[in-house]
Amino acid sequence: MVFIPRHLLFLLFYNHRFVNTSSPKPFDPEAVIFDLDGVITRTARVHSRAWEQLFNSYLEQRGKSLGKTYPPFRHDPDYLKYVDGKPRYEGVDSFLRSREIVIPWGFPGDPPGMETVCGLGNRKNELFRSILRKEGVETFSSTIALVRELLENGIATGVASSSKNCREILEAAGIEKLFQTRVDGEVSAELDLKGKPEPDIFLKACENLGKDPGISIVVEDAVSGVQAGKKGGFGLVIGIAREDNREELRRNGADVVVNDMSEIGGIKGLRDLFRRNFAG
Ligand SMILES: [Mg+2]
Repeated sequence: MVFIPRHLLFLLFYNHRFVNTSSPKPFDPEAVIFDLDGVITRTARVHSRAWEQLFNSYLEQRGKSLGKTYPPFRHDPDYLKYVDGKPRYEGVDSFLRSREIVIPWGFPGDPPGMETVCGLGNRKNELFRSILRKEGVETFSSTIALVRELLENGIATGVASSSKNCREILEAAGIEKLFQTRVDGEVSAELDLKGKPEPDIFLKACENLGKDPGISIVVEDAVSGVQAGKKGGFGLVIGIAREDNREELRRNGADVVVNDMSEIGGIKGLRDLFRRNFAG
């Protein structure tokens, strides 16, 4: 991959499109690569419900056999405190320890439901997939509207996520066709790609699309994700602050931070932002 310095790209494209042509066309990005959870879909709710089903049935069973009562899993505060953002098995271990339960770690191949950290983690994934299939998943309509607009305007779209359930999630939402490439947890494992904050999965998505990261955009809601976009040399990194973390996203590499993609102002707003970021 050849990286051309930004100012040179700007001269090449901007001059060509704006100065030397009689009917100026906006300076378009070549591709926009979106993170999944928190950017395209509200997957957190499905995760939280799966954790709740897993832990509360386990705590009840265990309580019965030991003649004890354990305080159940509650979304608030247990989700953010013990499981959110952690690898699955660490989430199991961390929540159980909060109830003073320590069980053997086990192995990733343990059958779902076996009384090990891995067994319970595997059961959680089963529950997650079953809720997805039955109830679908909510999407952020502003993001989806922008993706459709990009496609109509010939700008390539991709999804880059560390989730191994990415394909199922997109299918459950009925939006798998809106993304021309998908680099997720399964692809990463196959190709041995490093996770965020390394830029591997975003760069791979651009490579699959045949686009230059320097003329492409990353949209992310996580600190590690905007760091990855910055490290990858993307032309614009948009941070979505779903939590109260605007400043943190900005400090870690977001060129622009919004609370929701509706603030971008559609493709026109996106073109303006992209152009301004190059010029600045
Ligand atoms: Mg995310």
